[in-house]
Amino acid sequence: MPHRAKSAAPHTTCELCSSLLDEEYAFQTYSGTNNTYLPAAAEHLNVVRDFNPTSSRKLQLRQCSNCGTYYLYRSDYEYLAVSEDEEFLTRLTEEQAVEHLNRPAEV
Ligand SMILES: [Zn+2]
Repeated sequence: MPHRAKSAAPHTTCELCSSLLDEEYAFQTYSGTNNTYLPAAAEHLNVVRDFNPTSSRKLQLRQCSNCGTYYLYRSDYEYLAVSEDEEFLTRLTEEQAVEHLNRPAEV
């Protein structure tokens, strides 16, 4: 078990974040038969940094406007016979978020 601070992490009491798992994953295909979607709460996170603004493969640092918890949002787009979209949303620790904040954006 990783070391935890005594006070509960803000996301555990946050209305928005408590509906998000530490790791969220969604997968969509063009046919739409078995599509999954990220929880609606993911849409309410603010984009703090957009590392790949011109790419269809997104990499964004997002933050909850409610409690300030950071998330890393990643999407992958595959066009094979059919188009496939994958989305990943990962809750970050403060240290991890700082690392991303200090990272220069791609130009
Ligand atoms: Zn929150």
